[in-house]
Amino acid sequence: MKNSRRHFLQSIAASAFAFPVWSAAEGAPYGAAGSQERVLRVALLGLGGYAKRVAEAIKDCKRVKITGLISGTPDKLKSWGSLYGVPENSRYNYENFDRVGDNPDIDAVYIITPNALHKEQAIRVARAKKHVICEKPMALNAKEGEEMIAACKAAGVQLLVGYRLHFENKTTAIIRMRQEGEFGRIRFFQGLSGFKIGDPSQWRMQKKLAGGGALMDIGIYAVNGARYMVGEEPIWVTAQETKTDPERFKEGVDETIQFQLGFPGGAVASCLSTYNMSYLDRFFLNGEKGFAEMQPSTGYGPLKARTHKGELDIPHVTHQTLQMDGMAALLLDGKKPLVPVDGEEGLKDLKILDAIYAACASGKKQMLKL
Ligand code: NAD
Repeated sequence: MKNSRRHFLQSIAASAFAFPVWSAAEGAPYGAAGSQERVLRVALLGLGGYAKRVAEAIKDCKRVKITGLISGTPDKLKSWGSLYGVPENSRYNYENFDRVGDNPDIDAVYIITPNALHKEQAIRVARAKKHVICEKPMALNAKEGEEMIAACKAAGVQLLVGYRLHFENKTTAIIRMRQEGEFGRIRFFQGLSGFKIGDPSQWRMQKKLAGGGALMDIGIYAVNGARYMVGEEPIWVTAQETKTDPERFKEGVDETIQFQLGFPGGAVASCLSTYNMSYLDRFFLNGEKGFAEMQPSTGYGPLKARTHKGELDIPHVTHQTLQMDGMAALLLDGKKPLVPVDGEEGLKDLKILDAIYAACASGKKQMLKL
């Protein structure tokens, strides 16, 4: 019994990433020796903390290579260039990066800058006719998200959002269990996402660059998680804001927001987003037949997950390595991930974020059409 369950979980974890071999197009660059799979050549835009994590994770990718760098700091371009083998003519600054359009060694640009810069940078990348991969939140609000989608569509390029958990093995195993009816009709989700923020001068604490506070940065994991865990799109939102430290969390920078989402099948989600609690990273899904619990649920891992059937025994793989190989299969082979990572997916979360802020401001329930 135990063995068959383990076999089941291992096979569902493996199948999320069992992309068939790409049949080679002429002249395309290839992966490891003997491999017929085309490699996604990515330029990183913004060489900060998260870009470093992504760059290190790409070293273990089978199908992704860093072939371009964009930064405002010449020293970083030099040191990252030699570390990742990116030649000088594929290094750009924020003024001249539109020239990636003339670079045949770049397929996609991965935007990893403060939230307020995403929209304009994505539009410039699209106009240069390169695929856009953009960090979460995709933009500051739904209107900006729509402009990004339109620009990518007009340029004939794809827009993806860095939702690494859509490729994460324990997350996808639970989603498959839900799809197969293991939990029965879903009734409840709880998503708790937060951490205690440090340095008050950082961009995350400035509304102009962050677009808000904890909700834009970390609460978005509970928003996105509620959707992929319940497997439906919410139809209403209620929300309340709590601010214990208005000195530190200025106007427009939310410290803590509780929000609730209602789903068409009758499920409700109860979520918390905060910059003022440590180790808050928990998902809980309950249906009529069973439950799934993840804690931690969205950090860099290893994540921990169990259901009414027991612990999920699935090995940890660096999320960003899975994400980038998954995105290569998506962009180069047209493969579809279990949960989408496209601009429309990012836009749905932005619409919910807008509605949460509107609910906090008005004290009223907001209806949603996603
Ligand atoms: P960071 O502060 O470490 O890096 C930001 C980079 O942008 C820096 O290199 C900075 O020099 C550059 N930059 C360019 N213009 C800037 C400006 N006007 N002001 C400030 N910095 C500017 O931030 P980060 O943690 O790397 O976050 C970058 C993006 O990545 C954000 O959108 C964030 O939400 C996202 N992120 C995603 C994850 C994830 O797990 N998917 C994790 C962390 C961050």
